[in-house]
Amino acid sequence: APVIGVLALQGDVREHVAALTGAGAQARPVRRPAELDAVDGLVIPGGESTTISKLADIFELREPIDKRIAGSMPVYGSCAGMIMLAREVLDGRPDQRAFAGIEMTVRRNAFGRQVDSFEAPVAIDGVDGDPFHAVFIRAPWVERVGDGVEVLGRVTDGPAAGRIVAVRQENLLATSFHPELTGDLRLHAYFVDLVRAAGASGPVWARSGR
Ligand code: GLN
Repeated sequence: APVIGVLALQGDVREHVAALTGAGAQARPVRRPAELDAVDGLVIPGGESTTISKLADIFELREPIDKRIAGSMPVYGSCAGMIMLAREVLDGRPDQRAFAGIEMTVRRNAFGRQVDSFEAPVAIDGVDGDPFHAVFIRAPWVERVGDGVEVLGRVTDGPAAGRIVAVRQENLLATSFHPELTGDLRLHAYFVDLVRAAGASGPVWARSGR
C-alpha cells in the first residue's frame, strides 16, 4: 500500500489518517522532515492556514515540502490545505505563505459570514456515483485557475452557484470542502490511486524500498 502522510502541524489530522486508512493507504502523521522523506504522498488537512503556515516554518518543513512538490510528490489539500496549495491567496494574513502549489487564486473565508458553514451537493469529475455531500467550514473558493489546472467541481445551487471548489493540477489536488468529515471515502480513494500511479511512473524516491 502507498504510504501517505498527513501534515500534522494543526487541523483535522486524525480524520484524514482514518479516511486514508479506510481507502487502502498506509497513513501516518508527518511533523518532521525525516517523516516527510518516508512518504509517497501528503495530505494537508483543514484547520487554519495562517497557523499551518507559521508552524511549517517553525518545524522546518516548508523547504522540504516545496522540494517534494517540485519532485512531483502528490499532495491533497482540503480547505486550509487548499489555501496552502494556492499560488495566490486573497484575504489572507500578510505573513501567511503557501507552498509552491497550484496555479490558482483562492479567496480565504470566501463564502462569508451568513454562510460560515454550509453543506451542498458537489459532483466531482473523475469520481463516479452520487455528488459528494460537501461540508464547507469557513471555506475558501477558487477565483482563478491558470493553464493546466483542471476544475473538478463547482457549487451548483444558491448564492455561490458556479464557484469552483475542487481542482487538480497534475499531482496536486485541492477541495474547499472536507470529505474526511463525512465518511465518504471516494475522494481519498481517488488520491490514493493518484499516489499509486505516481509511484509506478515517478522518480526513484517514490519507489525505493517498497
Ligand atoms: N478559514 C480557514 C483558513 O483560512 C480554513 C477553514 C478550514 O480549514 N475549515 O485557513
